[in-house]
Amino acid sequence: MSEEKSLNFLEEIIEKDISNGLKTIQTRFPPEPNGYLHIGHAKAITVNFSLADKYGGKTNLRFDDTNPVTEETEYVESIKNDIKWLGYNWDAEFYASDYFDTLFEYAVKLINKGLAYVDDSTSEEIAELKGTPTTVGTDSPFRNRSVEENLKLFSEMKEGKYKDGEKVLRAKIDMSSPNMLLRDPIIYRIKHAHHHRTGNKWCLYPMYDFAHGQSDSIENITHSICTLEFVPHRPLYDWFIEKLEIFPSHQYEFARLNLTYTVMSKRKLLQLVNEGFVSGWDDPRMPTISAFRRRGYTPESIHMFCEKIGVARRENLIDVGLLEFCAREDLNKKAARTMVVLDPLKLIITNYDKNSSEILKGENDPANPDDTRDVHFSSELFIEREDFMEIPEKKWFRLAPGKMVRLKNAYIVECENFIKDDAGNLTEIHCRYIPESKSGSDVSGINVKGTIHWVSAKHAVDAEVRLYDRLFTEENIAAAEGHFSDYINPSSLIEVNAKIEPALLNAKVGEHFQFLRKGYFCVDKDSTSQKLVFNRTVTLKDTWVKKSK
Ligand code: ATP
Ligand code: MG
Repeated sequence: MSEEKSLNFLEEIIEKDISNGLKTIQTRFPPEPNGYLHIGHAKAITVNFSLADKYGGKTNLRFDDTNPVTEETEYVESIKNDIKWLGYNWDAEFYASDYFDTLFEYAVKLINKGLAYVDDSTSEEIAELKGTPTTVGTDSPFRNRSVEENLKLFSEMKEGKYKDGEKVLRAKIDMSSPNMLLRDPIIYRIKHAHHHRTGNKWCLYPMYDFAHGQSDSIENITHSICTLEFVPHRPLYDWFIEKLEIFPSHQYEFARLNLTYTVMSKRKLLQLVNEGFVSGWDDPRMPTISAFRRRGYTPESIHMFCEKIGVARRENLIDVGLLEFCAREDLNKKAARTMVVLDPLKLIITNYDKNSSEILKGENDPANPDDTRDVHFSSELFIEREDFMEIPEKKWFRLAPGKMVRLKNAYIVECENFIKDDAGNLTEIHCRYIPESKSGSDVSGINVKGTIHWVSAKHAVDAEVRLYDRLFTEENIAAAEGHFSDYINPSSLIEVNAKIEPALLNAKVGEHFQFLRKGYFCVDKDSTSQKLVFNRTVTLKDTWVKKSK
């Protein structure tokens, strides 16, 4: 019997709530549509949807679209697409902007209770009077306006009588609170801007803290799960709900996902896109969900990763190698095997008839020997340049003058000599093959230690292969000095012209393959009927550790 997994801290909270009589669990995933989702969001999505699934509850998708300036419909579509790709179905789709009327009413209610006021101070004056974490703040000269005056001014703000920044609405809480967020936070600001959904209807918009908890409450969210940086916001979250006397949603925080060798805030990712460090949000070097998908990661590999990292309240930095491990684990089961030569060197078989060729069997799936494809063999092949050494080092089991290797799925060959051009570059190597050594019916009695992949030159097709490395050279960018763009890896993308088996010509965009000895690859959307383009998803083994030593 498998050992029962211990509960994570959120499951413990929910089980306690259920034992105290809570009937239904309602969670939500609340992205701001100001960029594409990244792998950190995948963690938040997994946490919210899997908790609801486990306890028979539901999860809403709510777009937190209270900032008209940064939000776009393109982002809304990409977010929905990514969540679906991860395999989750939200119960209802909401927009915080749908609640603008209700939120406005809530603000009026606070004013009526004497708990909010219109402040004419400039943002500099407000900051000045706010105090510091060690000194108390000072009341604004507008703090004691009458309810009537506040109501009048607030409705004039809505009607567009004032310019941006001329007035704000603030909650009246405590200018000496040790929690700076409780020192009369701004809850509405004037912004004459077009909103992606409400158009020009509004010229004042609620601040995050005045929209988020109230939206949770409107949707009867029982467990509002967010990341640790919101811990200081929780007292404010609770204050609004208590004073407004609305559904008591509760906020719970977990540690955000940080990953090595990358940045993970939409603002920084947008900068990478805008400044041309990458080709777009789905450039396969980006940590976005759409980039992982394009690169060849599967939803299952991302789920495995989220499962392994778990959910806790301690901040940490996760090794991107773990994500790569999960991709290998999953692709090993799914990707068909094929032979592709990334850096071709001609190999001529001197004792094989130039005008002849034969069809051999290549296995697509080592776990299923009956699943095979046709592999063409002829007198001229391509092999990897790195599989030949003119003067072999010790324990070299690949090709060198006088050395033998097995050509995968074919024959044993022995290298006789090699040819160089006038400039001294190796152009081809000559071998003889052992006809009795055919794979599957080898009666040669010869044992060789090395097996290499190859492609028949006359049957091979050209393809572009994109080899990726980390986008950044620094493991922990947040802790490094300077700007993140100082650490861009100049060789994070290498494009090579590879030789592929003709059997690959039917491959579809997104299809996964294991190129023998070279890694997992998938067909990129840039492929055309003239030329296939492949992305290397991940190498077969972790080569990074070796390289960085
Ligand atoms: P970013 O700084 O990348 O824009 P955000 O937190 O502002 O991140 P939102 O769209 O507001 O992005 O986030 C939606 C949800 O995803 C929030 O609940 C947030 O806490 C969660 N989230 C964002 N980044 C991470 C992360 N790195 N790890 C886990 N959850 C995250
Ligand atoms: Mg945000």
